[in-house]
Amino acid sequence: MSKKANTFQTPIGTRDLLPEESARWEAVIEVFSTVASRAGFSLVDTPIFEDVGVFTRIGEGTDVVGKEMYEFLDRGERPMALRPEGTAAVCRAFAQHRPLVPWKVYYRGPYFRYEAPQAGRFRQFHQFGIESIGSDDPDIDVEVIALGWKVLGAVGINKIELLVNSMGDQETRRNYQQALSGFLKNHAADLDEEDRKKVESHPLRVLDSKRPSTQSVTKEAPQINDFLSADAETHLERVKDGLKALEIPFSIEPRLVRGLDYYTHTTFEFQSLALDSAQNTVCGGGRYNGLIEELGGPATPGIGFGMGIERLLLACDAEESFPAPPPGVQVWVVDVTDGSSARDLTHTLRDYGVTADRSFDQRSMRSQMRSANRSEAEIALIIGEQEVDEDTVAIRMLRDEEKGQIVVPRSSAVAEVQRLLGLES
Ligand code: ATP
Ligand code: MG
Repeated sequence: MSKKANTFQTPIGTRDLLPEESARWEAVIEVFSTVASRAGFSLVDTPIFEDVGVFTRIGEGTDVVGKEMYEFLDRGERPMALRPEGTAAVCRAFAQHRPLVPWKVYYRGPYFRYEAPQAGRFRQFHQFGIESIGSDDPDIDVEVIALGWKVLGAVGINKIELLVNSMGDQETRRNYQQALSGFLKNHAADLDEEDRKKVESHPLRVLDSKRPSTQSVTKEAPQINDFLSADAETHLERVKDGLKALEIPFSIEPRLVRGLDYYTHTTFEFQSLALDSAQNTVCGGGRYNGLIEELGGPATPGIGFGMGIERLLLACDAEESFPAPPPGVQVWVVDVTDGSSARDLTHTLRDYGVTADRSFDQRSMRSQMRSANRSEAEIALIIGEQEVDEDTVAIRMLRDEEKGQIVVPRSSAVAEVQRLLGLES
């Protein structure tokens, strides 16, 4: 009796990136890296797991840390966490290596949150982001927001709303938290039960709630803009002026406090108007002037954003923008002799920067031509007994039947392919 083999699936909330999607995935990362490096940002890559303390410092009362974080003890009994977000890890790296400021870095990779999976919400998801560390200049806030805007524009997203707020400084936050907590206590009965628990410990979290009953209460809550210190006010005005000067449309949203504890001054979100409101935030970020000190570094201001790659591509789908790059190769080498010519020619073509592939297993002409067509190649190089005898190659333009077939000496085949593809030789 044969034993049935075990079958396995991706864990809940994770997915395989398959070839049908991966070219587009690579392309969107390329867009982001280009935009970031053009503005003087360099790649930083940190481990996907860290000492759990790196993340608990960002707020144990937050959902991200308190409910969604993947924590484990390694085999040496050290408490570790799979990183749920990028900023804390980058700030840990800054505190550890003490680079010269300004330190302008970008990152991309997988992040982990134990959430209820749904469209645009995964347990392993991917972000790219930037952090600009070392200055409190509000023009950096403008630069960072403008780069988010540029990435969205570069992938053809138009139905987007930029929300901006200021959390002010420590003093602003303290005064506001007090007022908000007082208000929420008076309306506790109308709050969603989950949110009611946070009124005492984390009143700001309540503003971040997506639950309708809570939202109808917080609509009437005191607003942080009435509590901003003079410094915070000046900072925000300069950011607003900058966005106007760069013609980046935005609106001020006083309830935008964001999900993490570390924000000071500017916070912002780009929300897609083409996605469902439960997962329409494509990009979120803000300033975190106290975080590096919290992580044991010198007091250093910073600001950054994280953009969800899956979300970004969902928004592209909804707007029918940023199509996948064309699949396949430029040239298919069809060899109906013993395969040696295909072996050698594909190798040489690739050396000259031409993408090339072939069939194996000595298939028939018909079968190899079918593969050539399926590959979406523009050109087939065809070698039969006659071509081997005469040391030639037949070249067929697969997308343009009228051009028919030409036969060239084998020694000039690569140059001819380059010419036909419009490549420099
Ligand atoms: P949301 O309010 O949608 O849960 P968030 O405020 O928790 O987002 P951030 O911590 O700011 O998100 O993360 C930055 C970006 O990463 C988000 O704007 C979103 O695009 C993306 N993101 C966050 N969580 C997930 C997830 N579970 N799956 C896919 N993308 C995510
Ligand atoms: Mg979230």
